[in-house]
Amino acid sequence: MIKFCVHYGIHFGLPLVIALLFYRPNWWKAYLIMLLAFLIDLDHLLATPLFDPNRCSINFHPLHTYYAILIYILLVGFKKTRLIGLGLLAHIIADSVDCLLM
Ligand SMILES: [Zn+2]
Repeated sequence: MIKFCVHYGIHFGLPLVIALLFYRPNWWKAYLIMLLAFLIDLDHLLATPLFDPNRCSINFHPLHTYYAILIYILLVGFKKTRLIGLGLLAHIIADSVDCLLM
């Protein structure tokens, strides 16, 4: 249960903190864009079993590999893609914490 709270706390909380700190007054727009990063979890559909609570997603799913993470870091470097990059990195951080708590 604690793991669940930490995981989703970071998933929803970290983008919210970034949005409130750096993207006022339209923070909710920034927040929504960052939440779109959840879409990378679609790569879980390629895995069998679909969901395994004891599996570390980092470096297991194609969009959670170090190569993908490098691209997310690059996205942060450009103004147009910064928000989606930040959202993706927040997502990766949440997933990594999960792996650390295993
Ligand atoms: Zn994920």
